[in-house]
Amino acid sequence: MSLDNTSHPGGPGHDELVPSRYALRVGEIDVLVVSDGVLSLPGAMLGHNADPAVRAAWLEDMFLPPDVLEWALNVVVVRSGGRTILIDAGIGMDPGLNLPRAGQLVRRLGAAGIDLASVTDVVLTHMHMDHVGGLLVDGVKDRLRPDLRIHLAAAEAEFWVSPDFSRVSMPPGFPDALRRTAKRFLDVYRSQMRPFETEYEVAPGVLVHRTGGHTPGHSVVRLASGGDRLTFAGDAVFQVGFEHPEWYNGFEHDPEEAARVRLRLLRELAATGEALVATHLSFPSVCHVAVAGSAFRCVPATWEY
Ligand SMILES: [Zn+2]
Repeated sequence: MSLDNTSHPGGPGHDELVPSRYALRVGEIDVLVVSDGVLSLPGAMLGHNADPAVRAAWLEDMFLPPDVLEWALNVVVVRSGGRTILIDAGIGMDPGLNLPRAGQLVRRLGAAGIDLASVTDVVLTHMHMDHVGGLLVDGVKDRLRPDLRIHLAAAEAEFWVSPDFSRVSMPPGFPDALRRTAKRFLDVYRSQMRPFETEYEVAPGVLVHRTGGHTPGHSVVRLASGGDRLTFAGDAVFQVGFEHPEWYNGFEHDPEEAARVRLRLLRELAATGEALVATHLSFPSVCHVAVAGSAFRCVPATWEY
């Protein structure tokens, strides 16, 4: 895919009919959610430990087709203390898996007036291809600053040297594509990586914190400023995770731990009332978490125009 891809049905460049960015503020911190597009994945991967009949009923209740899950792919840009921070980078080129509707990030950042050269820091929640691939698109590295810092958990970089796929439940072709992309990312960007152990404050009020679970170095980003709070949960929470936090997502490398991480985070967010944004919740994904019986409910935030 080239940087000036104009084949997307929404129309070229600056005049897409469907909005692809949503701005909000958390105290003094500017936050922009940008859509990289949508991934079409098999329905079974939303809960591979769930009874197929229960899973099918959930999909039907959500007005979703029985076999294809349309997964949003959200990226966030944060500005704080003079730094411009890109949190995750979308999928980039289609890795031969027929995912043509994602990979829009670079074009949509341009449409939002964000020059790649203005990005001072990248935070990676983890190294799955739908979170790092955008930085591997032809020509992107040359447009980024040479002193760009890429923050990720040390455990994540270590994991992808020899990744364990024994507990996942992915469609054919995905494990190889994920391995290839992560390896390439390590090769291309290793000198710019700034690994942290447990947590790291990237800019005032912007804290990246390792959770593990989804991958060993999976991390979330906590924003806090002037009494406002927002958490970017990466892949710790999916749409089905509110109602069925114990369902194992097919992309989770340690599903039991991923479910524990999800429950802990949802309980905390329900208690504090802070805002949540996550990679694969429907764009723009800004919501609050409410308790609903023994599970949770996602309460979408009102759009502010
Ligand atoms: Zn993901």
